[in-house]
Parts: sequence; structure tokens; C-alpha cells
Amino acid sequence: MSENCVFCKIISRELPSTKVYEDEDVLAFRDINPQADVHFLIIPKSHIESLAHVDTSHAALLGKIMTLASVLAEKEGSINGFRTIVNTGEVGRQDVFHLHVHVLGGDKALPAMIYKRS
Ligand code: AMP
Ligand code: ZN
Repeated sequence: MSENCVFCKIISRELPSTKVYEDEDVLAFRDINPQADVHFLIIPKSHIESLAHVDTSHAALLGKIMTLASVLAEKEGSINGFRTIVNTGEVGRQDVFHLHVHVLGGDKALPAMIYKRS
């Protein structure tokens, strides 16, 4: 738990979220500002700042998150594919510094690249 981290506060339920999935290692919840018909985030429950802060000890956790991306995308209604995005650091335009994988999808094909709607 890191103080002043929005996603740690979601994990501890200090802040609300619309949960998609939870287990002892990870939490998935809908993005508050969806950029597609399906848009949720998968985060580790441990506070890891970004993908630039992982090492081989995180391999199983990252594998679990990516496996869940596929399972949960389908469960959320993204039957014919989806997109995963991990924004990292300043160059990657990361806004929340708690590692998260965006999962975006829906019925319609996404734009070739994602631009924020607002
Ligand atoms: P990033 O730019 O990759 O760091 O993305 C952070 C994402 O977190 C954005 O898509 C935000 O809309 C989303 N977000 C920020 N605060 C919340 C929140 N309280 N609940 C759900 N999603 C959030
Ligand atoms: Zn955190």
C-alpha cells in the first residue's frame, strides 16, 4: 500500500470502483473514463509503480495478469478480440503510477491507435 496512490485506495476500498474480478494477487475494475465500449484495468494488489519497475520475481504475476486480460475481456463482452495497453513513465504518458494493464474492446473494431476521447 502506497499512500496517495489512487489504485491502492481502490484496493483498500477507500475509493469505490466497479469490480470486474478480484483474487489475492490482482484486482480488475472498469476505467472511470472509458475509451471504448469495454475498458477495464487489471492491477496487481502490491504497489508496483510501472512496468519499468518489475524484475523476474514478478514474472508469474505478470503472466497471471495477461492471462486474465483474455479471460475477462471475453467475459466483459469482447468476443472477437481486444487491445491491451501498458502506459509506462513519462514517455508512455502514464498518469497513475501503480502498474496497470488497460483492456479495451467491444463489438466494433477499435481505431488503428487509441486517442483519448476527452
Ligand atoms: P494511464 O494514463 O495509463 O496511467 O491510465 C490511468 C487510467 O486510470 C485512466 O484511463 C483513468 O481514466 C483511470 N482512472 C483514474 N482514476 C480512476 C478511478 N478512480 N477509477 C477507475 N479508473 C480510474
Ligand atoms: Zn498503488
